[in-house]
Amino acid sequence: MLSTAHHSTAQQADVVIIGAGIAGLSAARHLTSAGVRVTVLEAAPHVGGRMATDEVDGFRLDRQGQLLTTSYPELLRTPGLDGAGLRKFSPGVLVHSDGRNYRTGAVGSARSALTVARALASAPRPPLGGAVDQARLSAVLGRLAATPTSRLLTRPERTALEALSARGLPARTVNGFLRPLLSALLCDPDLGTSSRCADLALQAFARGRLFVTAGGASALPELLARALPEGTVRTDVCVTDASISSVTTKEHGEITCRALVLATGARAAAELLPGLRAPDFHPVTVLHHTAPEPPMTDPALLLDADRGGPVAHTAVMSAVDPARAPEGRVLISSTVLGTPPPAAELDRTVRAHLAKLYGTPTDDWELLAAYHNPEAVPAMPPPHDLRRPVRLLSGLYVCGDHRDTNTVQGALFSGRRAAHAILRDLGVRPAEETAETTGQEGPEGPEQLPAVA
Ligand SMILES: Cc1cc2nc3c(=O)[nH]c(=O)nc-3n(C[C@H](O)[C@H](O)[C@H](O)COP(=O)(O)OP(=O)(O)OC[C@H]3O[C@@H](n4cnc5c(N)ncnc54)[C@H](O)[C@@H]3O)c2cc1C
Repeated sequence: MLSTAHHSTAQQADVVIIGAGIAGLSAARHLTSAGVRVTVLEAAPHVGGRMATDEVDGFRLDRQGQLLTTSYPELLRTPGLDGAGLRKFSPGVLVHSDGRNYRTGAVGSARSALTVARALASAPRPPLGGAVDQARLSAVLGRLAATPTSRLLTRPERTALEALSARGLPARTVNGFLRPLLSALLCDPDLGTSSRCADLALQAFARGRLFVTAGGASALPELLARALPEGTVRTDVCVTDASISSVTTKEHGEITCRALVLATGARAAAELLPGLRAPDFHPVTVLHHTAPEPPMTDPALLLDADRGGPVAHTAVMSAVDPARAPEGRVLISSTVLGTPPPAAELDRTVRAHLAKLYGTPTDDWELLAAYHNPEAVPAMPPPHDLRRPVRLLSGLYVCGDHRDTNTVQGALFSGRRAAHAILRDLGVRPAEETAETTGQEGPEGPEQLPAVA
């Protein structure tokens, strides 16, 4: 039985966590809050895993085109995340169709939907639906926001694409808004994802506002790591072999432990622990450009209803979060889902598409960076177990986005579940008790994440 009285030393720890991504750091935070001593071993020189931000010529460039929503409850529940600056996109999204951009997807009640419909009655009729279609969509999103998550999860499960046609909305609303939005939220251009995961993603969108973290995606894991007791995280330490009672590292030999958490991401976890299943993955490519002038001033997420090129979503990121570009400079960040065009054509093809989306020439734009990740997120086809076990046996645990949903919310929640499983095995009461049924219930978040009681 583990004891919380044990001390971590360089070669010995009560709990060793392999991986300082957001899941491993979440587990560490919940364990240390309950008084357990933890060592987190991270192969990279920095924490954050896939939530990485590079500094290039004063620009802050995310390696992933991350879309978070203020309604992710784990952002509020994870101690240490208070103080994260939220840079919100403007409400709803902009969708591009037939050479114009239209705002859509802002959420309202049936009554406010009617008001919106009246207000929009004289507006030009967008090809993806008129004012009444917009009002119906707004009401559907409003109802989805109000539906308890547990009820959503009793709906029949199929692929997200199959479920879309059963929503009772006109084909133009589905193809012009829901399809591109869900593809962006799920990193899945073909929408083969479980309809339950799609419902959760759409509900999170309807309940909150899309945002990025001030200064880059790495800000969240860095905040979590800073809140841990000094010396908890050891970077540049690669684990080559693991068992319940010890790990072998390339750099420091053997480190013994009384419990082990694999928080490495699905592929590395399956390599360290043969028998764990490695899922399929969705590839994602993120490109960052700078331009002499901002192509739009609206801090909006722009989607393409016409699917007229490889870009799934794009934003003038320096308008959403000015901290990501040097004073007076412009940063445009764009995401390509699935297999990208060949490397030699990638920038040219993406720039041609961005010229259409923003309605401006892009010949004088400069590519700052292009990041391709062939295993960006684990695929979640139906049937998808939203709560895959995190306790393999007493003393051996696994967490990460492959145990829940393939999102920051899912990764954080899996870390909390793993920590609570360890605490239960230890007979220690968690510092905070919250519903573990879905991990999804929660209100819209504020500008700044508050301290967790
Ligand atoms: C391109 C892209 C776009 C995304 N878009 C979104 C989005 O829009 N919204 C959203 O919510 N999520 C998005 N995600 C997903 C989100 O980033 C992940 O779900 C989350 O970051 C996963 O965290 P994790 O801790 O489970 O894994 P990881 O971040 O992969 O962390 C695992 C850590 O383990 C370390 N490690 C591995 N092997 C070893 C070893 N042997 N020894 C020591 N350390 C090891 C790795 O270096 C890494 O730091 C996106 C991801 C990508 C890549």
